[in-house]
Amino acid sequence: MNSEEIFILKKALTNTSNIVIVGHKNPDGDAIGSCLGLANFLKQLEHQVTVVMPNDFPEFLKWIPETETIINYEQHREKVKKCLSEANLVFTLDFNALNRTGDLVTELMATKADFILIDHHQEPDDYALVTYSDVGMSSTSEMVYHFIEFMGGLNLLNKKIATQLYVGIMTDTGSFRFSATTATTHRVIAHLIEVGAPNSIIHQNIYDTNNPDRLKLLGVALNNMVMLPEYKTAYITMSQEELNNNNFKKGDTEGFVNYALSMKGVIFAIIFIENKKEKIIKISLRSKGSFSVNDFSRKYFNGGGHTNAAGGKSLKKLSKTVEEFISILPRYKKELNEA
Ligand code: 5GP
Ligand code: MN
Repeated sequence: MNSEEIFILKKALTNTSNIVIVGHKNPDGDAIGSCLGLANFLKQLEHQVTVVMPNDFPEFLKWIPETETIINYEQHREKVKKCLSEANLVFTLDFNALNRTGDLVTELMATKADFILIDHHQEPDDYALVTYSDVGMSSTSEMVYHFIEFMGGLNLLNKKIATQLYVGIMTDTGSFRFSATTATTHRVIAHLIEVGAPNSIIHQNIYDTNNPDRLKLLGVALNNMVMLPEYKTAYITMSQEELNNNNFKKGDTEGFVNYALSMKGVIFAIIFIENKKEKIIKISLRSKGSFSVNDFSRKYFNGGGHTNAAGGKSLKKLSKTVEEFISILPRYKKELNEA
């Protein structure tokens, strides 16, 4: 943020009593961590703050302090409507376009409040009074730390904020290994540990939560994996039937696509997950190096995200979607082999 943006923000905050903070649909660790961390900070500045998520989030995130205060729009539409009508300021975190909030977008468009965007995805839409966008950042949670720093508030960090932000940074960087992890990220993490983030316990709470159903589902996913060595690509499919047979719960397939990317020689990995209820195929794309899955997903799968991690969807059948994907690959043969 530049000094003018910081000035506008400080002014906006002086005239503000009611603040709503919104994350994206199917919130992940970074969405939850950044929203709660920011809320916690703003509450200490005596603001009235409500955190809203478009829908529910996985069980493995529910131990994070204060997740019980989050209002789920899908379950409490009227309450969210009221909060947004009373808000002076709405922070939108960890997404680049209002339609990433699903149905909640209608309520967001109706509010008279000013927006503040904090996000690290590419090509943010232009709807906010202040757009704090930095695609070089590891996570929105790291940006919230810097936001607090810009506001001169690092002395207000506490164990809860540190824990919330730590979760967001850790999950979005794949435990500090993705390329957006910088020396600054590690300095921020060091500070969060100093003010009380129980780092080892956080790792256990997030990653050591497997149950037999999820591991069996992983077995199915690995069995379904297809290698396409000529494109340095691997893909995984999961049908609704396979999910049902293994007692699928939200969040169970999180990270499966990384197994495909972990194979030697693979630089492009993709997972297609059938969702009969929403009538879509949910797609997650991952890459290594310069091959942009953000561009790929924007072009073919109505999605986007980052260079090395993006999401998208298809309205076609699972088999048709995969067929289409395979038919696109020859166009990228050179790029994939040179990336
Ligand atoms: P995931 O594959 O874990 O759902 O998402 C990977 C990354 O891409 C995340 O940063 C996520 O926010 C982003 N992403 C996922 N789905 C979409 C989408 O439909 N549109 C855009 N713009 N970004 C997405
Ligand atoms: Mn993020």
